[in-house]
Amino acid sequence: MNTAMGFAAKCALVLSGMAVALSAVAAGPTAALSVALDVGHSRQKPGAVSARGVNEFEFNRALAQTLADVLRQRGVQVTLIGVDGDMNDLYARPSRAAGADFFLSIHHDSVQPQYLQPWTVDGAHRRYSDRFSGFSLFVSHQNPYFAQSLACASLLGARLRAAGFQPSDHHAEPIPGENRSYADRANGVYDFDQLVVLRMASQPAALLEAGIIVNRADEQSLRQPATQTRIATAVADGLERCLARPGATTP
Ligand SMILES: [Zn+2]
Repeated sequence: MNTAMGFAAKCALVLSGMAVALSAVAAGPTAALSVALDVGHSRQKPGAVSARGVNEFEFNRALAQTLADVLRQRGVQVTLIGVDGDMNDLYARPSRAAGADFFLSIHHDSVQPQYLQPWTVDGAHRRYSDRFSGFSLFVSHQNPYFAQSLACASLLGARLRAAGFQPSDHHAEPIPGENRSYADRANGVYDFDQLVVLRMASQPAALLEAGIIVNRADEQSLRQPATQTRIATAVADGLERCLARPGATTP
């Protein structure tokens, strides 16, 4: 092979590489969206305990599975992280999400301990607080895609509000353990820069506290499959909207 042909061959290789890259870009609008759903907590570290003694992990898993179903029905690829309850390493969660377009961590909320009061339900001593109600969303400035993270979180909050859910303002209360600044007050989005799963994610990310399970009425509602489907549908609407690519048909 002479030098000229060698050069031409190299050019062809470069061009074919460019063609591959361009076709990948061109495939963007029709390629399936991919969302990583992180089921907050584990069996060993189950998170908050509801007013009636149910672990947060159980709420997180039920809602994440419902949301996974809704998203898959819409053609979105879903990676469920921690659904078996055996993921105790926070840092392993974002790495399982590699390649996804968005990372959403699913949680349910509690309140500061001073607000919890004792009560007896079904013969068991439990603690509850009906003082606060509603959902919250968190984003981290340390995520490499903060602007997209916030844009998506705002859309999730807006869709949840449109579906009849209200954001809770209790994380902004100026007390130890709270005192968070708002990233988007109207849509219930707070700054929470240190959250491991958000700052370590390699894609835009948000954490959803779907509701407050120490609130007795909210807990009962959040356990209903109908409520879980309403939340999941609103979240799926928001995700599809914020991840919509040029040429996508999402309204
Ligand atoms: Zn949690």
